[in-house]
Amino acid sequence: MKMDMDKEKYTVIGGGISGLLITALLAAEGKQIDLIEKNTHCGGYLRNLGCGAPYGAHHIGLPDRGLLAGIIGGLGISDEGLLRSADTVRILSGQREYKLSLRLDEQCSQLCEIFPEEAEGLRAYFGFMTDFAEALYSDDDRQIKGYFVKLAGKSFRSFLEKYFSNEELIALLSFLGPSYGGVTDADSAFTFASLAATYGKGAYYMDCGALTEKLAEKAAGMENVNIMTGIQASRIRRDDESGRYTVYDGSGAVSEADKVIFAGSFRRILEEYCEHTGMNDTSFRKIFGMETGPSAYRYYFRTDVPLSRMEHIRLGADGYIMSTLESDECSVMLTCVTDSSQPQWDNERLISEISDTLCIGKELIHPVCVCSPSERENRTLNENGAVFGWKRNARNNLDANLIYSIDKKLPGIYVTGNWSATFGFFGCLYTANKLFCKLTADRRS
Ligand SMILES: Cc1cc2nc3c(=O)[nH]c(=O)nc-3n(C[C@H](O)[C@H](O)[C@H](O)COP(=O)(O)OP(=O)(O)OC[C@H]3O[C@@H](n4cnc5c(N)ncnc54)[C@H](O)[C@@H]3O)c2cc1C
Repeated sequence: MKMDMDKEKYTVIGGGISGLLITALLAAEGKQIDLIEKNTHCGGYLRNLGCGAPYGAHHIGLPDRGLLAGIIGGLGISDEGLLRSADTVRILSGQREYKLSLRLDEQCSQLCEIFPEEAEGLRAYFGFMTDFAEALYSDDDRQIKGYFVKLAGKSFRSFLEKYFSNEELIALLSFLGPSYGGVTDADSAFTFASLAATYGKGAYYMDCGALTEKLAEKAAGMENVNIMTGIQASRIRRDDESGRYTVYDGSGAVSEADKVIFAGSFRRILEEYCEHTGMNDTSFRKIFGMETGPSAYRYYFRTDVPLSRMEHIRLGADGYIMSTLESDECSVMLTCVTDSSQPQWDNERLISEISDTLCIGKELIHPVCVCSPSERENRTLNENGAVFGWKRNARNNLDANLIYSIDKKLPGIYVTGNWSATFGFFGCLYTANKLFCKLTADRRS
């Protein structure tokens, strides 16, 4: 264990995008960091999860393109080539097909043309969503709370029914952008609306692989960062006298620090620690009682014909998102959101879906691999391999906010990323930056 007593020392548990980002940001401020990652490579969910498919290929929502550039720019990393605008999605509903923009303003006029009889409701709905999007990114907690109270306790469907009677329109809006984020009917209207608002300000394809590499390289090149791969943190203990934490793996102490940041699913380690210290606190009981999920199967295929990048969304009970990629090794990625431990579909059915959706012969489509929830859990220790950490229903939305203030009860303990109070790539950026500001009392907060 290397230690420089002059520098505040952190242990970051988890080397996904959130762990890498917070490590690089804090290290650039002169903090001493041990970054512990279970796998032999950093990257977490943004990295190839082992089945030979390309890593990255994410479709993300960013309320402001400058946000990524600003955060990584401070580390001397350019966002050039990382983002490509991707606002248009193709939606298949029965025999009908739509091409819609995810941008709120564009989507409103497109839908008014398709559903002229709902134009009044559409203008009211998009007016609400545009105001909500402004409030969400305004940093005005009172305004955000107001929307939270209006939306958190109801389903998105019941919210849409206030504006519309056309079932096709309700189905379209329910499955657009928000569902890209892997939400389900169990999630609250607040979650749906937050995703629609985020994607509605700008959707992009992100080269997550390149960003992960750049951040990992940056962190590895900083003399005050010690990246420890192949190590699985299993418990923490605090020395009452010094207030410092020791992090252990299965065979002993691996790191000692003033502060510990969890950048992966943290419940097992913190539950064990609270049991050990006899802490029996309501907010922890709430956090530990939160449900995880949903999860997703992702099926990867290669086609003998080149494809261009696009999202094809199938509505309906067996809905899915089929992403076509510009890659020779893997050109189709089909995502089915489910909590089931059994794969939903076999290859024959999947090939038939791909053939119908993309209008190419079945003989030109070849399976590459499947990325399952259990495989993801084994690799990353994220409970149930859940795509976005916690389930985003009304109760969890409330309880997740408690995660921001864990350090009030456990001084020096923080959480960032997918298992914090927000999720997805934007959530990782947002929570890592928010934590960085809190820890450095930076004006940017
Ligand atoms: C199939 C799928 C599709 C997705 N699609 C999108 C999308 O289109 N758009 C979008 O915005 N987001 C998407 N996401 C979500 C996005 O990938 C995640 O939000 C993001 O990658 C989470 O990053 P993270 O660093 O917070 O966590 P993770 O990537 O989960 O990283 C956590 C890291 O911590 C390590 N770790 C955990 N516990 C320990 C321990 N005890 N000791 C040591 N190491 C530990 C893990 O090995 C892992 O490397 C998708 C996710 C999946 C799975």
